[in-house]
Amino acid sequence: HAPLAELDPEVAAAVGAELRRQQTTLEMIASENFAPVAVLEAQGSVLTNKYAEGYPGRRYYGGCEHVDVVERLAIERIKSLFGAGFANVQPHSGAQANAAAMFALLEPGDTILGLDLAHGGHLTHGMRINFSGKLYNVVAYHVSEENYQVDMAEVERLAKEHQPKLIVAGWSAYPRQLDFAEFRRIADEVGAHLMVDMAHFAGLVAAGLHPNPVPHAHVVTTTTHKTLGGPRGGVIMTNDAALAKKINSAVFPGQQGGPLEHVIAAKAVAFKVAASPEFADRQRRTLEGARVLAERLGQDDCAAAGVRVLTGGTDVHLVLVDLRDSELDGKQAEDLLHSIGITVNRNAVPFDPRPPMVTSGLRIGTPALATRGFTAEDFAEVADVIARALQPRPDLDALRDRVSALAAKHPLYPDLGA
Ligand code: PLP
Repeated sequence: HAPLAELDPEVAAAVGAELRRQQTTLEMIASENFAPVAVLEAQGSVLTNKYAEGYPGRRYYGGCEHVDVVERLAIERIKSLFGAGFANVQPHSGAQANAAAMFALLEPGDTILGLDLAHGGHLTHGMRINFSGKLYNVVAYHVSEENYQVDMAEVERLAKEHQPKLIVAGWSAYPRQLDFAEFRRIADEVGAHLMVDMAHFAGLVAAGLHPNPVPHAHVVTTTTHKTLGGPRGGVIMTNDAALAKKINSAVFPGQQGGPLEHVIAAKAVAFKVAASPEFADRQRRTLEGARVLAERLGQDDCAAAGVRVLTGGTDVHLVLVDLRDSELDGKQAEDLLHSIGITVNRNAVPFDPRPPMVTSGLRIGTPALATRGFTAEDFAEVADVIARALQPRPDLDALRDRVSALAAKHPLYPDLGA
């Protein structure tokens, strides 16, 4: 019965230190967010104790009457959020959602067509040593060298040439919207299924600020912890009743045993939040923040330092910074920003001459700061701090003070202590 601090002071200290890190620095990793306290509460609940293999009303264990309630709530809420006819909310992560969706749609050895990892795709879209690259025959499409946007002519050419069973549209590092209708047209032309992985931009879709892939794709997968702002996890949706059955059996028993009902409860809470006007306002500030950041990093002083914004701007919650002409490589820039209290991740730019552990780019996202309450004015301030940090001979002490002031202006988790 002892509380964590008493029973395990080492783990308690690390949790406390992480809370302080989150409170005192500016989180700009594009795939991260701050889950509401109610989500943390649901996830830290006694639902973690329950085995519930199967689906609501059809479980392989007794005593599932209460977890059935939360799982049904999660399913109904996300269906209504995205206009989907069917949802499976059990995948433990985005990678497992994608694995199960592919398991439902493909046989080993089938061909898939996905965005190259080095051009913004995800590991699960066909990277060589990921399950996707090992199980399936992978053909990759790319962004164009002229405008750094997905080359739809290449997608169509490769689809016709390789006749994939599945086309994957979606990204982990890409600052623009995809043309889902065009992807579907190409998929139909070659008899492929279209899967859209909207992990990154699902929150924007929920707020009506980004086109919804659900009407276009055979299957849509997402994570629940990025722009959507919930607990770490995955979801699979479809409007095709025949696929729905295959997806359920691909998740359980195909990929997983017992679902994480405490996480599913937290997902249900997050989906309720995502339907609120406050959530839509937060997503608007997320987009505005990214636009402000792209604009500042596109100014002459940055250009003179060899800092460029890929595609010249952004339509989403992140900006890709191209450092190929800068004195800094991606690793140095990431470390430099870390030293003044801003957390970002280095990221390969398309056609990057440097290796993946170094890279020539940064991926900078605004969702977590928007959740923290940042306005356009606050984003202009953090954008100026980043712009100055990336130029030669920055005054790091002054920049660190400006970061601390912004963190203090928007307290995070004030009721959780630290
Ligand atoms: N899909 C995309 C597009 C992603 O960017 C990510 C994570 O970064 C995932 C899937 C995988 O999510 P998870 O880390 O929950 O496995």
